[in-house]
Amino acid sequence: MERPVRELKGVGEKTQKLLESIGIYTTGDLVRLYPRTYREYGSPVSVKDVKEGETYTLRLRVLTNVYVSQGGKLPVTTITGADDTGRIPVIWYRAQYLRSVLKKGGFYVFRGRVVLKRGRLQLEHPEIFSLDDYQALENTLRPVYPLHKGLTEKQMIKLVKAALSEKDLLPEIITEEIRDRYQLAERNFAVEAIHFPGDKEALIKARTRIAFDEFLLFILSVRLLKERSDSVPNSHNIKPVWKTEEIIENLPYQLTNAQMNVWHQIERDMTGHSLMSRLIQGDVGSGKTIIAFLAAILSAMNGHQAAIMAPTEVLAKQHFDSMQRLLEQNGLSDLSTVLLTGQSTASERRKIYAEMGSGEAKIIIGTHALIQEKAQYKDLALVVTDEQHRFGVKQREALLDRENPPHVLVMSATPVPRTLAIILYGDLDISVLDEMPQNRIPIKNAVVDTQRRTQSYAFIIKQVREGHQAYVICPMVEENEEIEAENVTDYAEELRSVMPEDITVGVLHGKMKSKEKNRVMDEFSSGNIKVLVSTTVVEVGINVPNATVMMIENAERFGLAQLHQLRGRVGRGDAQSYCIFVQGNKDDETNKRLQVIGRSNDGFFIASEDLKMRGPGDLFGVRQSGDLDFHVADIFRDSDVLKTAAEAASDILSMDPGLALPQNKMLREELSKYGAYGSESTVL
Ligand code: ADP
Ligand code: MG
Repeated sequence: MERPVRELKGVGEKTQKLLESIGIYTTGDLVRLYPRTYREYGSPVSVKDVKEGETYTLRLRVLTNVYVSQGGKLPVTTITGADDTGRIPVIWYRAQYLRSVLKKGGFYVFRGRVVLKRGRLQLEHPEIFSLDDYQALENTLRPVYPLHKGLTEKQMIKLVKAALSEKDLLPEIITEEIRDRYQLAERNFAVEAIHFPGDKEALIKARTRIAFDEFLLFILSVRLLKERSDSVPNSHNIKPVWKTEEIIENLPYQLTNAQMNVWHQIERDMTGHSLMSRLIQGDVGSGKTIIAFLAAILSAMNGHQAAIMAPTEVLAKQHFDSMQRLLEQNGLSDLSTVLLTGQSTASERRKIYAEMGSGEAKIIIGTHALIQEKAQYKDLALVVTDEQHRFGVKQREALLDRENPPHVLVMSATPVPRTLAIILYGDLDISVLDEMPQNRIPIKNAVVDTQRRTQSYAFIIKQVREGHQAYVICPMVEENEEIEAENVTDYAEELRSVMPEDITVGVLHGKMKSKEKNRVMDEFSSGNIKVLVSTTVVEVGINVPNATVMMIENAERFGLAQLHQLRGRVGRGDAQSYCIFVQGNKDDETNKRLQVIGRSNDGFFIASEDLKMRGPGDLFGVRQSGDLDFHVADIFRDSDVLKTAAEAASDILSMDPGLALPQNKMLREELSKYGAYGSESTVL
C-alpha cells in the first residue's frame, strides 16, 4: 500500500518538500517516476580512442596533485590522468572537496564527456568510481531520473529502492490467465526492472508490461465512460441558434471546409438524442479553438453553462481573453464569462463559485480548478478539454458522475493515425481537422549548428524591425546545471546584451508564478515584448499570430513531435514564418533526425519518419510525443502493445462488464485511483 514519502527512511522535511515540488507525495508516486533514460556502464576504453563530444569511461592513474583554480566565475578543479595509451586532463566545476578524495598515483574510473578546450581534449566533470565500485557496475544499466535542484541522482536511486522494498506496494491487477495469454511479465517484476534492469532483455519485458498497463487502463476507462454516456439520454434542451452562423460570417477569415464539417457535426450531436463524446484531432494551427468556442456559445445561448478546460494557466487566460473578444465583437457581452484558475484569490474564487452556482456565469474557462469539489455548477451542459492528455480519469469522473452529465468535447493535436486512434478511443466519435487555413504560408526551416547563432540573432532583429516577434526556446537544464549555462535567465541576459536596446526581451519559464507568466504572455501578445526566451511552457496552445520566428536551442534534446508542437507557435498568421533548429552537438544521427523536421511541416509524417529511423526496439531515444502522453507507453513505438491491450480489455469486459468480479478488484481500484499507471495520462 502506498504511504507518504515522509515515512521512508532518510526522508526528512527538506527532502519531502523537494519531492513534493516535483509532484511526488507517496511511495507509489516514487516508483511511478520512471527513468528518463539509462546509463550504460560499459567497459573502460583507452585514452587514445576518445573523440570530442562523446561520453566515455576511462580507467586512469592520477599523475598530478589536485589543483583548484580560483580565477574565473567558477572554481575549476583539475588533475591529469593517464593510461598506457596516453594522458588527458580531467576537470570539474567547483568540487574542491576532490582534493581530499583523489590521491596522486591512485587508480580510478572516470565517466564523462570529452570536450575540446583551447585545442586540447579534456574530460569534463566526470563521475568518479573506485575500481571495485566500477567493477560492480560494469555492464549494468543505471536509471537516470529527471533531476531537480536539490535532489541528487544517488539520492533518487536510494529513495526509489526504498520505495520498491515496501511490502505489497504494487498488487497484481490482471489475472494469471490474461498474463499467460499475452505473455506478460509480472507487475512487480516489471516495476522493479524498469528502474533497475538486470540487462536489456529484462528492461524490454518490464517496459512492455508497463506500457500494456497504461494502455489497458486507458482503454478500459474510455470504454466504461463511453458506456455510461451512451446510456444517458441528452436531457439538455439545446436548439440550434442563428447567432452561431452569424459569428462564423463575422470572423475575419473563412472557416475551412474541415472546420465547417466538424462544427456542424458537433451542433448535431449537441442537439441530438444522446450525449456527445467527441474527440477532435487536428494538427497544430488547424483552428480547433474557434470550434470549441462555437460549441460553448451554443450551449450558453440555450441558457446552459459550458466549461472549457486548458492544461495551463497561461492557455486558460488566453482562451478567456479571446472568448471575451469574440463575444464583444458579436454583441454577446451579456453572456457572462469567468476565468477560474489556481491563481484566482480566495475572494475572487468565492465570487466565481457563487456565479457558477447561481447559473449566472454561462461560460467558465480555466484549469483543473474547474473540476475541484467546490466548483459547483447550476446547469453544466458542455465540457471542452483542450490538449486533453493532461486530464485524468478521476477528474473526468468528477464531471460525468453527476445526475445530468454534460456533453464532452476533447481536442488534441497529437497526431495519432486513425487506425490506432480507433483502438485507443474505442467508440468515441472522432472528427479530424485535416485541412489547414488557406492563408497559411508553409514555414521555412533551417537546421544549423551553434556557430550560426549570431546570424540567427541578426535574422531575428531583422524580423522584429519588420514588425514581427520571435520565440527563443532553451531546454530545461536537467542533468548538470553548472555545466549547462544556457539556462533561460542567463540566456535572456546574454541575448539582451546583443540585441539593440529598444528590442525588449522577455522571459518565461515553468518556475515563475502564474501571475508573472500571465503578465509576460500579455506583454508578448500585445507586442511590447518582441523576443520571448522561454522553456517549453509555450509548447501547448499559445497563439500569438504576429510571431514569425521560432529559434530552438539544443533541438537535439527534444522529441520530433515536441519540436513540431513548438514550431506550431509560428506560422499562425498570414506572414512568412521561420523555424531555426540549433543543433548543439555534432552527432550525424541527430542531424538526420533533425533534417526530417526541417523538411516537413506535417505532424503525421514527422511522427512516422521518426519511428522508422529509430526502429521500435529503440528504448533510449528521445520520447516521441514529449510529455503529453503516457509515462512509458508510446502510441507509435508500442503500437503492437496497444493492440494487445485492446484485445485484453475486450476479454476482460466480456467476462465482467462492470468489473465487479473479485478477480478484477485490484484492476478496478487502480482505475479509480489514477486511471492509468501515471496519474494523469488519460483522455476525455
Ligand atoms: P490549434 O488548432 O492549434 O488550437 P488555433 O485554434 O489556436 O489552432 O488557431 C490558430 C490560429 O489560426 C488562430 O489565430 C486562429 O484565429 C486562426 N484561424 C483559425 N481558423 C482559421 C481559418 N479558417 N482561416 C484563417 N485563420 C484561422
Ligand atoms: Mg489549440
